[in-house]
Amino acid sequence: MSSTLYNQSLVYHKVSEDFEWGLTTVSPFAFKKQIAALRRRNLNFKCVRDLSVQSQTARDVAITFDDGYRSVYTHAFPILSELDVRGTVFVITGFVGKTNDWDWQIGGRRFEHLNGSEIRELHAAGWEIGSHTVSHRILTTIDRKAIQEELKNSKETLEQTLGAPVCSICPPFNRFNEEILELAREVGYTKCAVSFPLESPPIGYEDFVIPRLGVYHHEWISVVRGKLEVNLWTPLVVLQQQIINLAARGTEIRKRLAT
Ligand SMILES: [Zn+2]
Repeated sequence: MSSTLYNQSLVYHKVSEDFEWGLTTVSPFAFKKQIAALRRRNLNFKCVRDLSVQSQTARDVAITFDDGYRSVYTHAFPILSELDVRGTVFVITGFVGKTNDWDWQIGGRRFEHLNGSEIRELHAAGWEIGSHTVSHRILTTIDRKAIQEELKNSKETLEQTLGAPVCSICPPFNRFNEEILELAREVGYTKCAVSFPLESPPIGYEDFVIPRLGVYHHEWISVVRGKLEVNLWTPLVVLQQQIINLAARGTEIRKRLAT
């Protein structure tokens, strides 16, 4: 297995005690135990913009959050502050301060997203704020101009909110190709956070693409720790994540059927 496949980054979504039909909510209790267990290993906690796949060491790790849910501020932020860790959150700029109407939920349940002042507070505390596009559309299914707008407009909106450069992008549903990487670089991003790939990134993008593995509802600390070490189980962990990603994409199909 090539060294570029080493995983340095974990992905969370919601950190909450609220019940949800799905795998992407981790309880604050479990979250704190997981991060404290990683803390005890003397890892270097970094933001995505500071990770380097090429100069990686087994000690670097980024804790990331996709979709910019409000529970990142209300639950994950105080826990990480207590443990002296700064996270990276990928925000959907069209849904700042709104609920997750872009996502399909059993029972039509809605979850709140971060608002502008919460995003600024996370940034002031040393967190990295990255883009998760404007609308959470699948970038591989829209034309080049629309991709450019999703990448560029979300970056500009966040930069206005923060008064600081935005360096990292995370493509929704982990769907990307070389054209999207090229456009992201052209717009000014320096990192693209994706799901841990089975294949190496395209030539020239080895240090641009940051692979990550998701942490899900039911997982033991040893499993979470294992996601940062490539071992015999890694192909199974990657397969699990691909199945979960595929299920998440069902949200797009259900939305199309409903409209
Ligand atoms: Zn997402």
